Amino acid sequence: MKALPTVAVLGTGQMGRPMALRLVSAGLAVRVWDRSHAKAEALVEAGATAAASPSQATADADVVLTMLADGPAVNAVMADPNGPLGSAGPETVWLQMSTVGIDWTDRLAGLAGACDVAFVDAPVSGSVGPAETGTLLVLASGPAHTRATLAPVLDAIGRRTIWLGPAGAGSRAKLVLNNWLVDLVESTAETLRFAGALGLDPATIIDLLDAPIGSPYAVDKARHMLKGDFTPNFALKHAVKDADLALAAAESVGIELGLTRSLIESWHRALAGGRGDEDLSTVYDDAGVRP
Ligand code: NAP
Repeated sequence: MKALPTVAVLGTGQMGRPMALRLVSAGLAVRVWDRSHAKAEALVEAGATAAASPSQATADADVVLTMLADGPAVNAVMADPNGPLGSAGPETVWLQMSTVGIDWTDRLAGLAGACDVAFVDAPVSGSVGPAETGTLLVLASGPAHTRATLAPVLDAIGRRTIWLGPAGAGSRAKLVLNNWLVDLVESTAETLRFAGALGLDPATIIDLLDAPIGSPYAVDKARHMLKGDFTPNFALKHAVKDADLALAAAESVGIELGLTRSLIESWHRALAGGRGDEDLSTVYDDAGVRP
């Protein structure tokens, strides 16, 4: 085993891009691939190597890091019979960091198992800012023998890695956290609308939302809501995906997520209205969203 692993990063979107840059800065050899080739090419100047295909990126890589949109996207890239798992070596570890939910994690773990590749389910908590500063929280789960290989990768990406058990535990924790997060954003939007309707200046409410009762995340989202600045950090389409995954997971274990259930229709309407690529704080703007 080399001192520092070679990492293939598949998916250089909002999150994959800064994560790849952190790995480069930490001195790791990084190969990047994105289906929009220009996004991978844009990282070459920083020191990454752009690959023309996923399997070119993963050939002889120690770690294959996927940071793609959702389960179907990860599957499309990884399940290709001539694809990345075929070119992976016996020591390769697949570090699956996209948020894909429980069922897709099981399917992807099965795919890895069929190719004798070690699979680590490790979604992250935190957004583009923490990805840029290497301060993500990594919710890792999977075989313990992979930890030494992954340590330099996870140290470069996150401020903390929590190992939660067998693969699947990380995705379960991520669903729980993001369920809380979508409820928080909906509650923040509703609070600002409520304040405005009562004749208060919502900006004043943001000050009052500050510590000790406010969360920094909610305060940041509230500021963007009032500015009407919905530049994506965490795109609404991904937040809706995560809310849907949480609702399905809850249903499978006989739990009702009442708060999430109450927001999901209006969030889907915002998605159908073409706002999926905006930040999830766009749900503050309820034009055409609420009856
Ligand atoms: P993003 O900017 O939309 O990037 C998604 C990536 O997936 C892009 O590389 C995209 O390619 C690729 N992709 C989408 N569909 C594909 C397909 N069918 N085949 C191949 N590639 C496909 O999303 P992101 O914000 O980086 O999020 C990535 C993952 O991390 C998601 O699962 C998200 O839920 C999760 N996450 C996001 C945040 C956040 O705050 N943004 C935080 C934690 C976790 P193109 O470049 O061609 O579009």
